[in-house]
Amino acid sequence: MFDKILIANRGEIALRVIRACREMGIQSVAVHSTADADAMHVRMADESVCIGPPAGTQSYLNMASIIAACEVTGAQAIHPGYGFLSENANFVQIIEDHGLTFIGPTAEHIRIMGDKITAKDTMIKLGVPCVPGSEGGVPDLATAKKLGEEMGYPVIIKATAGGGGKGMKVAETAEDMEIAFMTARAEGKANFGNDEVYIEKYLTTPRHIEIQVFGDGKGNAVHLGERDCSLQRRHQKVFEEAPGPCITPEERARIGKICADAMADINYIGAGTIEFLYENGEFYFIEMNTRLQVEHPVTESIFGVDLVREQIRVAEGLPMSFTQDDLEINGHSIEVRINAEKLPNFTPCPGKISQYHAPGGLGVRMDSALYDGYSIPPYYDSLIGKLIVHGRDRPEALARLARALGEIIIDGIDTSLPLFSALLAEDDILTGNYNIHWLEKWLEANMAEG
Ligand code: ADP
Repeated sequence: MFDKILIANRGEIALRVIRACREMGIQSVAVHSTADADAMHVRMADESVCIGPPAGTQSYLNMASIIAACEVTGAQAIHPGYGFLSENANFVQIIEDHGLTFIGPTAEHIRIMGDKITAKDTMIKLGVPCVPGSEGGVPDLATAKKLGEEMGYPVIIKATAGGGGKGMKVAETAEDMEIAFMTARAEGKANFGNDEVYIEKYLTTPRHIEIQVFGDGKGNAVHLGERDCSLQRRHQKVFEEAPGPCITPEERARIGKICADAMADINYIGAGTIEFLYENGEFYFIEMNTRLQVEHPVTESIFGVDLVREQIRVAEGLPMSFTQDDLEINGHSIEVRINAEKLPNFTPCPGKISQYHAPGGLGVRMDSALYDGYSIPPYYDSLIGKLIVHGRDRPEALARLARALGEIIIDGIDTSLPLFSALLAEDDILTGNYNIHWLEKWLEANMAEG
């Protein structure tokens, strides 16, 4: 059993992990950059270590400093949160070489799923349905054009190493292919150091439905239903809910079992998310994330489980605390991502919080590292909080969201909060009638960028 865990992250997710540690009686170690000396995760952890200057590359991505912090404090395991080093196979290898435990999947699984071509190939072999597309990488423009003709436009060109919406370009027609192909390649090279790309049929009205999976690394795996994350801006999720408003219990059981069986087959350990596009009753795999997702709380809310606690348990070699039969959905949950951004352009807006008041009451969870007087540094992601609500059904969750949005106060900076109040006035949101393009179209019509 672990006595002490180091959290290689910051912000709300570091707090999230510290909370799980505390409930389990495990000591927590925060690491921080010089810009984060006054951050809430540093205040809340049992110990903290400064690991470098503000730039992420020199602090939260600095493997040597993080390993040294483990050695200095005697932490036996590292929880990576999401982002930063959470999907870095080399980091996992280095942790293990130092006799420490990585709370997450194996380096091998991270490697397989981190390369989208290999991930798709693996999923096809495991019987998971995928978006029709090229078999493996597409070496040159001529092949890309040939495939475009064969598959029929529109198509999407994706960097195999892509992520965070980068390295993806749509070609509506054959005329767009050259520029889309070249741009996807260049973005892959510039952002991820890998210019290999592949091609997929571009689905025109899908929803983004992802399945939460969990494995014990010993051939047992379960699914915890789906999350609908179709409301996206620039391929980035802003509003997530579970269960998906359009998914039937039969569909959930079918795709959930396919995913859980696939994970059992590969002896997957820890939390993972298998992402699909869903159109006309069919699921098409797009990618797998081998970590805890930002939106994991909606799943925790409807199943009443603590996913971080489970991650720690299986990393200790313990069994999961539930079986598939124990997992029953209770009600409906919605999360909205609160970013330090100024609308309508969504420009990052760091600065000092003059007043902060978190909403509360039945069915309201606020995961945030904000406090009165906190200065949000300009160096990191603009996510500053997640408001998660739970109700007995979707209408109750929506009413609770509207109520909580009315209570929350974040003064001193601009945030994305006004977006959510505006969305709750839309019939399509109230009825759950939206797909991955809905928000972009709505923003164009209602929040013309200045
Ligand atoms: P990333 O790793 O950058 O997040 P994903 O492969 O997960 O990229 O895709 C992110 C989003 O891009 C999806 O949720 C969806 O909105 C859109 N997308 C990806 N592939 C397709 C496709 N084949 N057809 C239509 N939209 C797609």
